[in-house]
Amino acid sequence: MEIKILDVSAGNVSGDIASYLLITDKYCIIIETGPSGAVKKLYQGLEEEGLTARDIDIIVVTHIHLDHAGASGHIVKKNRGIKLYVHPRGYPHMIDPSKLWQSSKETLGELARIYGPPIPIARGNLVRADDGSTLDIGEDELVFIHTPGHASHHMTILLRGNGFLFSGDAAGLYHDNVLVPITPKPHNPEKAIKSLEKLLEYDVKKVFFTHYGVYAPGKDAIEYAIRKWREWRDTIYEFYKKGYDLDRAYQELVEVDLEAGIMDKYFKSRGYAGDELKVSVEGMMSYFKWIEDNPR
Ligand SMILES: [Zn+2]
Repeated sequence: MEIKILDVSAGNVSGDIASYLLITDKYCIIIETGPSGAVKKLYQGLEEEGLTARDIDIIVVTHIHLDHAGASGHIVKKNRGIKLYVHPRGYPHMIDPSKLWQSSKETLGELARIYGPPIPIARGNLVRADDGSTLDIGEDELVFIHTPGHASHHMTILLRGNGFLFSGDAAGLYHDNVLVPITPKPHNPEKAIKSLEKLLEYDVKKVFFTHYGVYAPGKDAIEYAIRKWREWRDTIYEFYKKGYDLDRAYQELVEVDLEAGIMDKYFKSRGYAGDELKVSVEGMMSYFKWIEDNPR
């Protein structure tokens, strides 16, 4: 089996959003499509492998956010034979993406415009991927593992024989040996940590991050993610209890947390989504507010 990384970052940026191309003896598979606005980059990447959209048999998306699944409709439009595997909670939004687009514009602002709007996909092209279900791809098997936390409709995909895990946003963002959680609203850190612990039960040899690239050994990546999620949860909860507003909580986190500081600089230098770290702090803060407003 061949696995290629296609860079489908939005705008003029590179190394931010990955699409993974798997070529087995049976199928051509794309895991993550990248955003609608970068679909040309995806086609270019395929062309370099001597392929077009018509050669793709299967698409799998970890979740329906624009940077992970946004280009799906465009590819399916070019090839009506494609089967697209998606979390059951994301399924209706692939058929009718209007609500998803509306809420993305509200939460992402300018970035939503850069990612571009998703287009609808016919029911016949979609398959609901239930938790623990598998797909025989010839030389190996894909296992769909539901991993809520970053989003309620998030799953990760394990290439079982190889022990390769396609983590979407479940294990955070990885850049230059640094990892940070991705926790925009609505986020649930307890579910995110439970999901990561569930992934430790599998023999994960490598983690393929959508943002961005490969980390080995995979188990270390998952443990690193668990540690960071716990640290952020505890640190930001302290800030929340002290009554800090978002600006102050963000400033303090960037100061006390090594990875947050490094990554914030990277986000700011990247050319778009400079506020990504602050958006994550906001997600954590609003979780604590939600817990306070909805006591068990
Ligand atoms: Zn993402």
